[in-house]
Amino acid sequence: MLPARPVRLDPPPQRHHDTIVVGAGYVGLAAARRLAELRPDHSVLLLDADEIGEGSSGRNAGFAVSVPFNAGLSDAPLSAAERLQLELYERGLNDLEALVRRHRIACDWNPSPKLHAAATADGERRLKTTLRSYAKWQIDYEECDRSQIRQITGSDHYRYGFRTGRNVFIQPAALVRGLADSLPPNVHLCENTPVLDVQAQDKPVVATSAGRFSADRLILANNAFVKRLGYLRDRLVTIYTYAALTPELSPPERRLAGQDGQHGASDLEWGILPANRLGTTVRLVAGKRLLFRSAYSYEKELPAARVEQLLLASYRRRFPEMRRHEFEFVWGGTTALTSNGEASFGTLAPGIYCFAGCNGSGIVKGSVYGRMLAELSLGMASRELAGALDRPEPGHLPPEPFRTIGARAAIAYQAWKAGAER
Ligand SMILES: Cc1cc2nc3c(=O)[nH]c(=O)nc-3n(C[C@H](O)[C@H](O)[C@H](O)COP(=O)(O)OP(=O)(O)OC[C@H]3O[C@@H](n4cnc5c(N)ncnc54)[C@H](O)[C@@H]3O)c2cc1C
Repeated sequence: MLPARPVRLDPPPQRHHDTIVVGAGYVGLAAARRLAELRPDHSVLLLDADEIGEGSSGRNAGFAVSVPFNAGLSDAPLSAAERLQLELYERGLNDLEALVRRHRIACDWNPSPKLHAAATADGERRLKTTLRSYAKWQIDYEECDRSQIRQITGSDHYRYGFRTGRNVFIQPAALVRGLADSLPPNVHLCENTPVLDVQAQDKPVVATSAGRFSADRLILANNAFVKRLGYLRDRLVTIYTYAALTPELSPPERRLAGQDGQHGASDLEWGILPANRLGTTVRLVAGKRLLFRSAYSYEKELPAARVEQLLLASYRRRFPEMRRHEFEFVWGGTTALTSNGEASFGTLAPGIYCFAGCNGSGIVKGSVYGRMLAELSLGMASRELAGALDRPEPGHLPPEPFRTIGARAAIAYQAWKAGAER
């Protein structure tokens, strides 16, 4: 949807760098920026296998959420660790906003409440459990019944929900492009340059399609693909999820999507996050197109025709009147999930650092942890770093073939359980 952008392909002249960062999504971009800011005399080589914006960081649903998503929900008093997480996310969103302003990144930055909505009794129960945590975390929310949700979105599909702030809608590809194109001058970005192998020698060495490079420290920020480089294979599950955009809606169709034109700019965008992890995310993007994100597959992408069929079914369930539409864009992307919802943050081997396993919500979280990964790699210490290092590790996954059998069975069971939330 964005105009073409010049791709930065030229390998750097020198083979040794102070730091190499693998992956230019939210994590890698934040890590490279922080390193370059803290050490303006250092050379930072940032390598990505693809073009900026073509990975999951650029092709997600664009909810920049500053509330921890997968934190364990409990009614116990707010712990110091939970308080720190909340602070970090809040700061992460503020830092992103500051960058967007400073570099005038045109990414349709729109602070706007998001809806969490349920179509089933089980979904409603889950949302109400979430609200108990929100009360504890002192996060404002407003409960909505069917007719209120219909008024906002035009869809009669949902029976219960709540609206809450701490969310910004963005055009994710425009944001990652803007972040990449405004990096400090001591970051050398090389796109379309996959890292094929990592060797943890005296100094880390990476083999790439443009030859070998070494560094004093290596940051692995390629999320689900870190397993391909031999790390975290027993901790991360690579899950593909899928999304689609309709063509631009006509004025009558916009009315079906809740745009009565009576609320001015505030009714231009809305977004719904599902009550079930395997449910469907829906967003009205810039008042013009509907976006659907749904369905999961384990380690491999589903065939394109199947993806389109699943997404169309989600669309029709919510907007049965929109019979005319097919999608204009359909795509898939990876996320890295862990068995206990915890990400992996820290040192993998001497001089090799990693953040991976954002569990499907990585815009703000990835930016926060990418920045802290840079600080960790430079040997810095802070309350935030101590808190991040103190979090539990991602749980161990069972060995193959039980891992694959278990993951496929869990997806099938959860999808069945999600029912009308899909
Ligand atoms: C369809 C979809 C919708 C989503 N919606 C949301 C949402 O609304 N809000 C939200 O917060 N999150 C959302 N997510 C999740 C979010 O996109 C991810 O959490 C986020 O992209 C993770 O950022 P990252 O930097 O860790 O990894 P990635 O974005 O995956 O970036 C990793 C980068 O590493 C590169 N790479 C991989 N292997 C190599 C290699 N060997 N050598 C060099 N480079 C390599 C890739 O090309 C990629 O650019 C969604 C994800 C998908 C797929």
